[in-house]
Amino acid sequence: MRPAWLEVSLDALAHNFHLLKEKANGAQVIGVVKANAYGHGAVEIGKELLRLGAWGLAVATPQEARALREAGVVGRILLLGSLHPEQAQAVAELELIPSISTLQSAEALNALGKPIPVHLEFDTGLGRSGFPVEEAHLVRERFAQYENLLIQGIYSHFADAEENARWTEEQIERFMEVRRAFGPGYFYHLCNTAGTLGFGGCGLSAVRPGIGLYGLLPGWGLRPIARLLAKPTQVRKLPAGYRIGYGGLYTTQVEEWIATLPVGYADGIPRLVFNRATVRYRPPGSAEPLACPVVGRVSMDQITVRLPEAVGLDQVFEVATADHDPTSSLWGWAELTGTVSYEPAVRLSPRLARVYL
Ligand code: PLP
Repeated sequence: MRPAWLEVSLDALAHNFHLLKEKANGAQVIGVVKANAYGHGAVEIGKELLRLGAWGLAVATPQEARALREAGVVGRILLLGSLHPEQAQAVAELELIPSISTLQSAEALNALGKPIPVHLEFDTGLGRSGFPVEEAHLVRERFAQYENLLIQGIYSHFADAEENARWTEEQIERFMEVRRAFGPGYFYHLCNTAGTLGFGGCGLSAVRPGIGLYGLLPGWGLRPIARLLAKPTQVRKLPAGYRIGYGGLYTTQVEEWIATLPVGYADGIPRLVFNRATVRYRPPGSAEPLACPVVGRVSMDQITVRLPEAVGLDQVFEVATADHDPTSSLWGWAELTGTVSYEPAVRLSPRLARVYL
């Protein structure tokens, strides 16, 4: 064990699940657990989501689905993304629900000779994958010829539901065209987290939230479910003028207390946050946590932080806080490095132990 771990709150996950379900007016929830549940641990998160009543789980690759099956997940697993014909065999073996957006993959699946439920993907505006909306009638007729493929669901994905309501409304309208072409009796889903929050799930059968389940979107009452915690491996008083870290990008101004924490960019801390990010700890007897700057470059396995005073090696530091703090949270790291919170989340390395509370 290392004195560095990711603490994940299943209570916060439940809070986010129920909040999203309520926003979706009770539609079913497909819990998106691809990329190791956005870094939080797909097996435990997936099992918990199914316990909470999710319709099923969604992953991006057959390997991700295999890890869930091997851990005993028997619920529905939707394979997102355009299926490659070479993946047909894995779909059957793992009893997955594939997304189909080409006739080649439909034919490869149909040729396996056993009944397979599929979800058809239509491209309503993301421009990434899916059948063209204009071909909905043709696709419907074509699929009637595949004796082994059962169309269970039909879906699409938003390009910018967080920022661009007009574009999103156009996508919803195009998706409704698809729905008119296929009619009732199918499981329709369109909304990611932003669509669920901003458009009430669009009145469809299900929503497909990912980031919202993990609470990494500020402003909607969602709770980040994870904290990255570590204990120092060394605490030193360094003299003024002492250079710290690769490249010597920080020099102590006066005599300073510097702690080394055993987490680095190989654990998922973006290398570029040095001299800007902070970590927190609660000094004994203090009500408020103290923010301490990360000084010097982030190394592969370690960071150095400046403290106001000495602490013991048992002191727990929050390297990433379970909030949307601009310097100490996953969301803040994303802001500091010009990306979205998805990226620091999925980069939380498997080598960090996950502890579920
Ligand atoms: N549906 C599809 C097809 C996706 O690719 C994703 C994630 O990228 C999601 C749903 C979940 O999106 P979000 O994490 O924004 O809720």
